[in-house]
Amino acid sequence: MPLVSMRQLLDEAAKGGYGVGAFNVNDMEQIQAIMMAAKETRSPVIVQASRGARQFAEDLYLFRLIQAAAELNPEIPIAMHQDHGNSFETCKSAIALGYTSVMMDGSLKEDGKTPSSFEENVDVTRRVVDYAHERGVTVEGEIGVLGGVEDGHGAGGSGLDHITDPDQAVEFAEKTGVDALAIAIGTSHGAYKFTKKPDGSVLKMDVLIAIHKRLPHTHLVMHGSSSVPKDLQDEINKDGGKLNETWGVPVEEIQLGIRNGVRKINVDTDNRLAITGAIRKVFAETPEKFDPRDYLKPAREAMKKVVALRMTQFGQAGHAGDYAPIPITEIAKGYANGTLSTQPLVAAK
Ligand SMILES: [Zn+2]
Repeated sequence: MPLVSMRQLLDEAAKGGYGVGAFNVNDMEQIQAIMMAAKETRSPVIVQASRGARQFAEDLYLFRLIQAAAELNPEIPIAMHQDHGNSFETCKSAIALGYTSVMMDGSLKEDGKTPSSFEENVDVTRRVVDYAHERGVTVEGEIGVLGGVEDGHGAGGSGLDHITDPDQAVEFAEKTGVDALAIAIGTSHGAYKFTKKPDGSVLKMDVLIAIHKRLPHTHLVMHGSSSVPKDLQDEINKDGGKLNETWGVPVEEIQLGIRNGVRKINVDTDNRLAITGAIRKVFAETPEKFDPRDYLKPAREAMKKVVALRMTQFGQAGHAGDYAPIPITEIAKGYANGTLSTQPLVAAK
């Protein structure tokens, strides 16, 4: 199957009432782990690359691997997404490679660190939407600012510093025409999200629900949504790792989000933990081994297990065969003639 439009994938998820995991990749083993999980659970999937990943793997290596994944798994709808694009140019270069979706994170300035003004965010996001939609490519925008830093991207503060204002979310969706909207509800990137199991004082599910009430048909995106389970932390620490105790976003909160308009859930940290734990185990238990396959294979298997579990928990499992992919050229026509809406339905307060 060719790479599909993320808009189509999310529209289908909305119809089916489920969420779709968006998993970050940097190398072949991670891509294979995701595809093994998607195949096993028959899930449509979003694969995403940050700027850091594109740099690490080099654009062409990474994109050719995704193309191989699509070719080898014709029964799986795959959207390839630029995670946290920092500028029009970054998004444009992803589209030139063949990515079917981009995130323009205009919540930060181009340095990927300094929070921008609302007007700056609207302006750059709108420009990316115009450019991308003409080419049938999906756009995710962000309003509010996530906490933490990942791959050098992020304001670095607490997740509570810039919680999304529902009125601003409505205005942003109207002014930009984005297909999906990332919101800040207290989550942070990286492993250290919460210092205890999060409650409503730090994880603002009420804000998410308020935004969904105003924008009932807008696809919401949860960033920084690894669950950082204790068993994955223990696995690392047992074999010489030194992670401090930390809490992520509980799966049941993500499921509450999915019942309230969340269609894309970004997961990276959980996979990183699974990979590192598996490699440490091989090193600790069989220090005589030196063939990289001896630890990359269990690492890939450990990530596959986490991804397959999330696919089941998010509800995307079993939905791979629900629909045929619409060619990207047809998606572009849909944006142009208005059959694919770019104006949100706004409910009264
Ligand atoms: Zn993010």
